[in-house]
Amino acid sequence: MVEVVDTLKREATGKAAGNVGAPQEPEEKTSLYQARRKIYPQSISGAYRHLKSMLAIVFMGIYFILPWIRWDRGPGAPDQAVLVDLAHRRFYFFFIEIWPQEFYYIAGLLILAGIGLFVATSMVGRAWCGYACWQTVWTDMFMWVERKIEGDRNAQMKLDKTPWNAQKIIKRGLKHAVWLFIAFWTALTFILYFGNAPDVVKWFFTGQAPSVAYWTVAIMGGITYMFAGIMREQVCIYMCPWPRIQGAMVDEDTLIVTYHDWRGEPRGSMRDRKKHPEIEFGDCIDCGKCVHVCPTGIDIRDGQQLACITCALCIDACNSVMEKIGKPRGLIAYASVKAYDDMASGKMKQADFGWRNFIRPRTIVYLTVWMLIAAGLVLHLATRDRLQINVIHDRNPMFVRLSTGEIRNAYTVRVLNMQLEPRQFRIRMEGLPEGKMRILGLDKPPAREFTFDVKGNKARALRVFVMVPGSKVSGRQEFGFAIEALDKDGKPTETATNKAVFEAPARR
Ligand code: SF4
Ligand code: SF4
Repeated sequence: MVEVVDTLKREATGKAAGNVGAPQEPEEKTSLYQARRKIYPQSISGAYRHLKSMLAIVFMGIYFILPWIRWDRGPGAPDQAVLVDLAHRRFYFFFIEIWPQEFYYIAGLLILAGIGLFVATSMVGRAWCGYACWQTVWTDMFMWVERKIEGDRNAQMKLDKTPWNAQKIIKRGLKHAVWLFIAFWTALTFILYFGNAPDVVKWFFTGQAPSVAYWTVAIMGGITYMFAGIMREQVCIYMCPWPRIQGAMVDEDTLIVTYHDWRGEPRGSMRDRKKHPEIEFGDCIDCGKCVHVCPTGIDIRDGQQLACITCALCIDACNSVMEKIGKPRGLIAYASVKAYDDMASGKMKQADFGWRNFIRPRTIVYLTVWMLIAAGLVLHLATRDRLQINVIHDRNPMFVRLSTGEIRNAYTVRVLNMQLEPRQFRIRMEGLPEGKMRILGLDKPPAREFTFDVKGNKARALRVFVMVPGSKVSGRQEFGFAIEALDKDGKPTETATNKAVFEAPARR
């Protein structure tokens, strides 16, 4: 039977059995670079296709709508819910405001996203690539447009072969025009995150936006058009490093898309089955539908491949074929390597994955680390100070001896009011019991504490002079500045301190 099947395969590929002594075909020159084989992915409907479409709508909706959502932060503060305010060096995310010195929150979020990707990959393989990666989502949208204009796979192939005529020019022109519009709108939306969206749009279309905005839109729009419209699967296969890294994160319990060859092989078309009733064919009718729908153009029946983005469209395709021919679904299915082996050996009948596939030592470690970092970030965010103080000691001169006999040191004390509303603060000296301070611009006699105001979301730099009688101080002494934020009743609500050094001539 194996020989008959081999013969069928040779017939199918059009290659005759090699005869000893027969003239050999000239050896083909091999190239290091494979020319691109154009892919015409066929549309398909099914559970995974619906899931993919729903997620794509959600992700694109978030991306395109987010910069238009308003969030009232009070007078003088930007009212865009998500805003990277480069001019004032702030990042706003709804009620959260991040200052440049709090950039570790962004670093924390990136770490969380990275570990989240590890968790997802160890559970469900390249689900990120198949359902959520922007390259997948935007390529899907570009393909949808292509199908609406040029038709499905066969129509596209036919159009490719058709000589250029008016209809082809209109279809191709329209397709590229819509692609360019989507790419442009994608890039324009990106810059809306960096300024008040309605203003940015107005400035952009009236030529008042800064040149960097036009450059960003041109570059990002060009990349979107190239990646999602022209290069498509090549970005996933050749450019993205993720498929190379993810191998370290999957194990034998990770769910991947698998073709169940023990059930499908030997494959044979319906014609072959009629022609050779003596052969006990497997369930695969070699219709090629799983290959036709694949966005990266691979044949999952050849086994796991780097180009497979685990989008599961081949599962939908094969299930629809199995339903039509009255066979059980699941010839191509999500299964772990362990389940695949168990099914192949007959220990398991159907790919059956449950919580054990998801909760195992590797995923528990990833999840624990993820949750610890997330909890740490949330806790830190909830209890973070909204007040900061920074002290710089004048170095030249280090000290001045006044005519009164006092030694004077000068400092620049920078106070950051990180709340959106203006607040009153009190500055106090801690240590140097004989010392007093005077603050330039406050017009008050020397004292050990002063009150002053700082506008909301602003920093105020104070020139502070600290004086100590020359007889009471010698050499270098440490002391501190304490800043208290005061409420309406003058009670402290928040405190920040900063150490400082007082320099005086050494006494002998
Ligand atoms: S082989 Fe299947 S799961 Fe993999 S990319 Fe192609 S259609 Fe998607
Ligand atoms: S869709 Fe199913 S039946 Fe058709 S070729 Fe692919 S695996 Fe075989």
